Amino acid sequence: MDVKRRKFLKIAGLSAVAGLGVPSAFTNLLQGEALASSSGQGNPAEGHKPAGGHGGHGEESTGTQYGMVIDIKKFAEHQGLADRCINACHTEHNVPDFGNPKDEIKWIWTDDYAHGFTEHSQYKRNAGLNELPVLLTCNHCANPPCVRACPTQATFKNEVGVVVMDFHRCIGCRFCMAACPYGARSFNWRNPREKYANGNYKFYKNGVNPNYPTRMRGVVEKCNFCPERLAVGKLPACVEATGETKAMVFGNVNDPNSEIAKVLNSNFTIQRKPAAGTKPSVFYII
Ligand code: SF4
Ligand code: SF4
Repeated sequence: MDVKRRKFLKIAGLSAVAGLGVPSAFTNLLQGEALASSSGQGNPAEGHKPAGGHGGHGEESTGTQYGMVIDIKKFAEHQGLADRCINACHTEHNVPDFGNPKDEIKWIWTDDYAHGFTEHSQYKRNAGLNELPVLLTCNHCANPPCVRACPTQATFKNEVGVVVMDFHRCIGCRFCMAACPYGARSFNWRNPREKYANGNYKFYKNGVNPNYPTRMRGVVEKCNFCPERLAVGKLPACVEATGETKAMVFGNVNDPNSEIAKVLNSNFTIQRKPAAGTKPSVFYII
């Protein structure tokens, strides 16, 4: 963290103590959440309604909103597929591997169904479902508390409904991490760009992708739904890694002709922690 960033952080901390500036971010956060919970969304039993007004984003949502469907059963059928998705994402985005859980940086990861879906564990339909490893990532929430919490607008929602970050604006305050109910953000406690004496990077296991920026110590990061790939007509790296399995489907949930809208219309899907009112754009077929 350079001197300017330290200074900003110090001011932000002092403002919090004095009841100025930064608390207003929390006030906004709470107001947004109150609004969300009063909208009637988030019934765990609701699943989703058809795209163009499904339960994920409210009847009023008509603009482009990219989303993802993850089919848990298909991942269970294809051993090693989740690891291929994780590897594709982390290689594409220069996600460092520090080799220990304490410092872990994760854009997409697996956890047990029971841990990922604490509000849905009662929907145990198949033997062993609770123990199934499930791919988890940022939900690119339609109502994202992390965006409201960020004092520098380093994290924001873009015009296609994706919650992205400008790493250069991040001051490392980690308010966004505290605000995210999904643990979808990671903090660089260490310098990911550290090198050995011979000049090789220590923590980029698959080398460095020169087309994506590396980050520095003191910066938060998370999944970005691959806007750099979408811009050139590619699918997100994880979705591409699923190949012909159709274990992941990506697209505009508000376009009734999109593949994802058709999948959402023809399957029962669930979201993580719908009661939080964040309106996740990642849906799961169980
Ligand atoms: S999952 Fe967390 S980090 Fe991602 S948009 Fe929602 S609140 Fe923000
Ligand atoms: S740590 Fe999070 S909230 Fe703080 S500046 Fe960075 S992105 Fe924004």
